[in-house]
Amino acid sequence: MHFTDQEIITLRQTMLEWYDRHHRTLPWRSEPGDTPNPYHVWLSEIMLQQTTVITVGPYFAAFLNRWPTVTDLANAELDDVLHAWQGLGYYARARNLHKCAKAVASDYDGKFPDTEEGLLKLPGIGPYTAAAVSAIAFNRPSSPVDGNIERVISRLFALETPLPDVKPEIKEKSAALTPPDRPGDYAQALMDLGATICTPRNPACGICPWQAFCDGRKTGIAPELPRKRKKPAKPTRVGYAFWVQRDDGQILIRRRPESGLLGGLYEVPGSEWRAIDAPDQIMKDQAPINADWQEISGTVGHTFTHFHLDVSVLATKVGNDIAPGPDGVWTSIDGLADYALPTVMKKIVRHALKNL
Ligand code: SF4
Repeated sequence: MHFTDQEIITLRQTMLEWYDRHHRTLPWRSEPGDTPNPYHVWLSEIMLQQTTVITVGPYFAAFLNRWPTVTDLANAELDDVLHAWQGLGYYARARNLHKCAKAVASDYDGKFPDTEEGLLKLPGIGPYTAAAVSAIAFNRPSSPVDGNIERVISRLFALETPLPDVKPEIKEKSAALTPPDRPGDYAQALMDLGATICTPRNPACGICPWQAFCDGRKTGIAPELPRKRKKPAKPTRVGYAFWVQRDDGQILIRRRPESGLLGGLYEVPGSEWRAIDAPDQIMKDQAPINADWQEISGTVGHTFTHFHLDVSVLATKVGNDIAPGPDGVWTSIDGLADYALPTVMKKIVRHALKNL
């Protein structure tokens, strides 16, 4: 499908008019025509990766309350940022958020670069975020393509190639439609259309500003788009968590290494996570102390992006004079709230407390 120059102008106009009337009011968003705050736009875009608008709302407010500017965030301790991030998941985002804030504060005098190319040089900013911040915060004619925009464009052009192969075509078609004026509002309009009208299952084509142009609607295949290539099944990994409790009730937790999955967060000490047929003993030998271990019945399941994890918990009691070991710390159960514990570790704590 190909649009004439006049049709492209009409598509842009109808979308912007629709946005002026129906845009969502979101805490990080400025009203159409107002100047956005780049820090707010960047923070929200990082938080919104893999996370819903409803979940992000309170976190965004809490971050701004605590760190009102990017320089304040740069001056924060990483542990405090990770702790405030608890519950949003994908903690690499939080570590990069902090790194990026430091770079903006030290190398750019606290001001975000105002072009896609400049933004791409910052830690944790990939092509999507660079395009989104450049368009929304600086009104540059960039063309961010998130999941919502991907859906709208694939339907408008009735693109039947499955994801991810269709991505370059979507990007190209989306860029060709982006208007030179108000590109930020236009990008947000497409995001809003995808979130509220061109929804995954039942697009409300009858009230869509693009209904007259949409090939997906005309051919009746819109609800099936974008098609997706079947994903291979996620592998399962297994491991042990070692629940060490002192006579006075304190338990052992430790800080994970800075790099890698859940880096810098706290954990109930654990073994490596290995393939399901890995020898048990190798993992049991990774216990943080020599002790008599008792296996707690049941396991703790958790799904990460690339694998499922099944953790068995081994428990032991020790005296109050045992050292916590490198990166370890003793804490009361209530005191756990002071540490950045990822969801999988919270599940392990709940499992141990319930079954011991
Ligand atoms: Fe989506 Fe329907 Fe609008 Fe096409 S007409 S963009 S399928 S809501």
